[in-house]
Amino acid sequence: MPSVMPFEQGNKTMKKLLGGKGANLAEMTHLGLPVPPGFTITTDVCRAYYAGNRQLPSGLFEEVLEALHRLEEAKGERFGDSLKPLLISVRSGSVDSMPGMMDTILNLGLNDDTVEGLAKVTGDERFAYDCYRRLIHMFGNVVFELEGYPFEFILQQTKKRHGVNEDHQLTASALQGLIQEYKAVIAKHAGRPFPQAVEEQLKLAVEAVFRSWNNQRARIYRKIHQIPDEQGTAVNIQAMVFGNRGEGCGTGVVFTRNPSTGEPHLYGEFLINAQGEDVVAGIRTPVPIARLAEELPQAYEQLVAAAAALERHYRDMQDIEFTVEQGKLYLLQTRNGKRTAQAAVQLAVAFVKEGTITKEEAIGRIEPFHLDQLLHRAIDPACEPDVLAVGLPASPGAATGQAVFDADTAEAWARTGKKVILVRSETTPEDIHGVLAAEGVLTSRGGMTSHAAVVARGMGKPCVCGCEPIRLRDGAFEVVVAEQVTATIGEGDWVSIDGATGRVIRGVVQLREPELTAELEELLAWADDVRRLQVYTNADTPEDARRARSFGAEGIGLCRTEHMFMSPDRVPVVQAMILAERPEEREAALAQLLPMQQHDFEGIFRAMAGLPVTIRLLDPPLHEFLPNLEQLSIQHALLQQRGGEAADMQRIEKLLRKVRSLHEMNPMLGTRGCRLGLLYPEIYEMQVEALFRAALTCLEEQLEVIPDVMIPLVGHAVELKLMRELVDRKASEVLGARRSELTYRVGTMIEVPRAAITAAQIAKHADFFSFGTNDLTQMTLGYSRDDAEGKFLTHYVEQKLLPANPFQVLDREGVGMLVHWATEQGKSVKPELKTGICGEHGGDKESIFFCHEQGLDYVSCSPYRVPLARIAAAQAAL
Ligand code: ADP
Ligand code: MG
Ligand code: MG
Repeated sequence: MPSVMPFEQGNKTMKKLLGGKGANLAEMTHLGLPVPPGFTITTDVCRAYYAGNRQLPSGLFEEVLEALHRLEEAKGERFGDSLKPLLISVRSGSVDSMPGMMDTILNLGLNDDTVEGLAKVTGDERFAYDCYRRLIHMFGNVVFELEGYPFEFILQQTKKRHGVNEDHQLTASALQGLIQEYKAVIAKHAGRPFPQAVEEQLKLAVEAVFRSWNNQRARIYRKIHQIPDEQGTAVNIQAMVFGNRGEGCGTGVVFTRNPSTGEPHLYGEFLINAQGEDVVAGIRTPVPIARLAEELPQAYEQLVAAAAALERHYRDMQDIEFTVEQGKLYLLQTRNGKRTAQAAVQLAVAFVKEGTITKEEAIGRIEPFHLDQLLHRAIDPACEPDVLAVGLPASPGAATGQAVFDADTAEAWARTGKKVILVRSETTPEDIHGVLAAEGVLTSRGGMTSHAAVVARGMGKPCVCGCEPIRLRDGAFEVVVAEQVTATIGEGDWVSIDGATGRVIRGVVQLREPELTAELEELLAWADDVRRLQVYTNADTPEDARRARSFGAEGIGLCRTEHMFMSPDRVPVVQAMILAERPEEREAALAQLLPMQQHDFEGIFRAMAGLPVTIRLLDPPLHEFLPNLEQLSIQHALLQQRGGEAADMQRIEKLLRKVRSLHEMNPMLGTRGCRLGLLYPEIYEMQVEALFRAALTCLEEQLEVIPDVMIPLVGHAVELKLMRELVDRKASEVLGARRSELTYRVGTMIEVPRAAITAAQIAKHADFFSFGTNDLTQMTLGYSRDDAEGKFLTHYVEQKLLPANPFQVLDREGVGMLVHWATEQGKSVKPELKTGICGEHGGDKESIFFCHEQGLDYVSCSPYRVPLARIAAAQAAL
């Protein structure tokens, strides 16, 4: 492999070797587009540079000079020549685009001698000195790594002294003075003069670009975007063209379509009489691209034609950098333009309609993750928020409200019509009503799969969690940065959160409502034609079910009945049921709960009429419905001290006894799921009765009901066998003669590793398996989901000991093996066994791909992830 490749020899497929910029410059050269000639030093050389202790490989520079020589011949100019000097740019160019992260130097080849030559051949002294001062400034920044400040300060002073506002108004002699001062800055701060030898300039510049691969912002950018550190950058060396050569010149950036909306018009900016960085540097305010049509009509026409040609050729929206020199257009870069989620959908559909790409390609171009952004309210991009702190972007969407610090207040305030943001150090299941009432949730602890995050995502509520700079104290939170309190937000103060970016913002921000656009509906319909996996939703309320259905859900894969126990009017009844000491007491409480539960089921069945609804019987340990042991003990102690009422004392002691007796060291591994069902069958009986009664009501309304009764936490076949008998018995009792009219299934969650391993035995009693991959992951890896994140798991993921967080992306090799084995074993006993997944993974692209490969029947995810899952399932099938 050569180390250096002229643009004529490369093409767009050679990104790995030439970097994105180099490969596309080569491609554009082949297309006959006006690209200044040049060549690329390959990424191999960058790797060699680092492997060789930051030394250019031997022989490299000779090769570069040879390629430069050919460039001289093509241009009829010579590098370092005092009569007709060739000027070049030295440009970084990584494989995956890292916009603005690395360095580029323009106008290389100028020195005290050649600058006079340039002035003479162009007949424009001002222009020549303008190029020279730019070179010295950039060289100082990039090669000598000097601060920009002294250069900018001198420039400001010079402009002031000459009474001008804009750089390009400086006269030749003013620029000459500037150059002298710039050189002095270099000599002083770099400890050596600006090099006059042009070959030395070149060598130092190439090395500096390689070095810039490892500057801090590039490293951070790679980390965020998961770009491998070993990739390295290419260096492009290219003959200069000049946008700073007077009024018929300019430079700009243009997208072939609007990258934020997808609308089909040129979108961009340019500056007359300016060079490269001026547009992005914000020195002057650029003007909209449409103005180019008025100011330089010929160049505009060339640009319109080039944009169309590039878009046609790349079959995608392009982001183009260009320069106009004396009325003639030059292209300096093209790449597939970055776009918002909205534009991505818009563009994919438009390109299909224009016949540019196929429907399958359109589906493939959507990053499923981005659909998340589309279905939530977002901060209006036009506003400039006052960001207080940044936490984990746990559940997308933006929300504005008044800060409250406990769930009850959240609920009370919301009932009076206030919008609230619930701020907690962490949330527990007891906070659920507060979460429900709030516009959004903010916590200072906990990871992306913490309870707060999971619950918020399930409800489509924006959530920022693990926001460490905030500290909660006495009804307020403080923002602490470097031990300093930088802000205090009290109860009732307005705050906003952006769950897509993790930003916590002071005050109210303008929000935009989500919508399924016609284009997204169309794209999703194409995806439905392609996919094999069905997409269900996790929904606990009729409202969630309806929303999910409007997003295309084909059933409910997980309806958690405990959420129905948690509303504040029910908690006392649930507590009475748990605290009951005699069977009659318990029955009375259950009799009160039954109609409530039946009502819930009716609502859900109606919302999902004609589609399967998987109902999971009570799963969490009972103590979750009781007050916390610690708090209760404190209350008790206080009461004793004060010598409170005997009745109060008795009540609290009874509660305390019960809480103590239910207290478990490892509640996640304790009395929960079907273990509860076996110990307290009357609870499950009540739930099943409510369920079948609700089904009956719907049958009477002529609605089709398809209940799937799901038994949680089964580890042994016998557990399922007994629970199934309970369900069947209740079905006969409730449905009586009408039993034949209702087809229901009984199945289990596979979430205990033993259940997966003994799936063949369990399948004998199951009509379906639903892989509960949250618990299955927790128990297979032995990671406590509530404790791992923010602690060792975060460390593991950051240090790349694990490929990803296994609670977000299904661990194929471990948990995946269990899913694979259980599916195979289950189907060997019962070929018609229905299989699906209902953990958090059901809304993750990689995990959905896995479910497709394993031949599962469905994935189930939160309502807002349904469109994402439809696309991902289609991509898996492509
Ligand atoms: P980045 O990757 O940061 O965009 P580039 O290498 O694309 O850096 O350079 C930035 C800008 O410098 C370009 O957009 C262009 O305006 C200008 N530039 C680079 N090379 C040349 C050249 N040969 N002639 C004129 N301008 C150039
Ligand atoms: Mg660029
Ligand atoms: Mg579970």
